[in-house]
Amino acid sequence: MGKRALVVGLGISGMATAITLHRHGWQPVIVEKAPDRRKTGYFVLVYGAGRAAAGRLGILEDMPNRAAELADVFSYDRLGNRSRTTSFDDLPNPPYRMLRTDVEEAAFAHLPADVEIRYSTSPTRIDQDPDGVDVEFDDGSTERFDLVVGADGLRSTVRRLAFGPDEDYLHPMSHVIAAFQLEGPLPGLATEDMAMLLEPARALWVFGFEGRKPTVMLTYRTDDVDAEFAEPPVTRLRKAFGPEPTGKMLGEVLDQAQRTPSLLFDQPEQVKMDRWSSGRVVLVGDSAWCVTLYAGMGVSAGLTGGDLLGTMLSKHPGDIRRALTEWEHQLRPAIGHYQQRGHAMRLWFNPHDRREMLVRKLFVDGGRLPVLGPVLNRQRARNLAEFDRDVAA
Ligand SMILES: Cc1cc2nc3c(=O)[nH]c(=O)nc-3n(C[C@H](O)[C@H](O)[C@H](O)COP(=O)(O)OP(=O)(O)OC[C@H]3O[C@@H](n4cnc5c(N)ncnc54)[C@H](O)[C@@H]3O)c2cc1C
Repeated sequence: MGKRALVVGLGISGMATAITLHRHGWQPVIVEKAPDRRKTGYFVLVYGAGRAAAGRLGILEDMPNRAAELADVFSYDRLGNRSRTTSFDDLPNPPYRMLRTDVEEAAFAHLPADVEIRYSTSPTRIDQDPDGVDVEFDDGSTERFDLVVGADGLRSTVRRLAFGPDEDYLHPMSHVIAAFQLEGPLPGLATEDMAMLLEPARALWVFGFEGRKPTVMLTYRTDDVDAEFAEPPVTRLRKAFGPEPTGKMLGEVLDQAQRTPSLLFDQPEQVKMDRWSSGRVVLVGDSAWCVTLYAGMGVSAGLTGGDLLGTMLSKHPGDIRRALTEWEHQLRPAIGHYQQRGHAMRLWFNPHDRREMLVRKLFVDGGRLPVLGPVLNRQRARNLAEFDRDVAA
């Protein structure tokens, strides 16, 4: 019988890890605190590094690129004036665009049938000795495992139990994000089109997809994040995007935010840790290194991290500590880079002031300038190559 691994979290990182552990002869058990697998999601971009890991995991063929070739990208103002602009699809080697649900569905479809999944289950205590880990669950039961993988997201319970309180690791970015799937395309936009309404320190993004309803993201800067959670989300959104009249598009989005059953309303935070493992407990994905949505690399990092973990454990079958050390050594440089980009790319999604809006405009339009253009494009291609570099290669 293979060694037993507990994987906490049925998200992208948890499923990627379970697939690869199983392939390398482990017996993974997944516990998920929700009563069922979540079926809602928002846009995600999947760059080359993530696609390479997805390929190795065998799930890439089921991850559809929903970016339509002929889709338009518009920049709006509140009066409804719009102009064509460029976005991710115009980058060299553009990322795949899809919903988080698309990746989760693909991974779930490829989970081997004998991987046990327990819903409505969460760990409450983790005790380890050199030979194994005893985990107590919220139903009071205790079980022993050879390895525990915390893939339970930004506010990880495994991290809290095995490494310490959230405050030691979470780094807030003084922003708020709201995201949800629209009821259908907004007036004047085709279902695949993208649109943005950028104002200093607040922004609305509409992400269109082929074959799925569009999703939106509202994001804004705040000096007092705690105050944002003291009132209902849509009340805060209306205040943040007021007091000026909303105009048609923003007004419709805010109305739908009020009606949707699945509004994500949160603050982006990075997770920074000196070590991602302690003995036989390891963190993978947002729980270990959340790079934030601004980096656009959370999915790719989760897939890569999960996939590489299995590879390293199979390379060092009798030495879990060495496997985890080498796994971390190989991943760290890329994750550090993605975290830096999480800060830099915030400007792309949510420029703070007129100066940042100008820098963004130069970045978007500058590629067409006679002398500066080729220099800017070369720099942009160099930056993006990091997102496509296969960490496990
Ligand atoms: C609006 C938005 C846009 C984004 N866009 C992109 C993008 O373009 N590109 C990109 O790569 N990334 C993007 N991301 C980030 C990406 O979605 C995440 O990095 C990724 O989904 C993290 O996956 P994960 O499996 O590590 O964690 P999660 O998705 O958080 O999954 C954790 C799982 O663990 C479960 N869980 C939590 N606590 C417990 C517990 N105590 N016990 C048991 N189970 C538990 C949760 O219910 C969940 O199922 C975006 C994020 C947001 C919010």
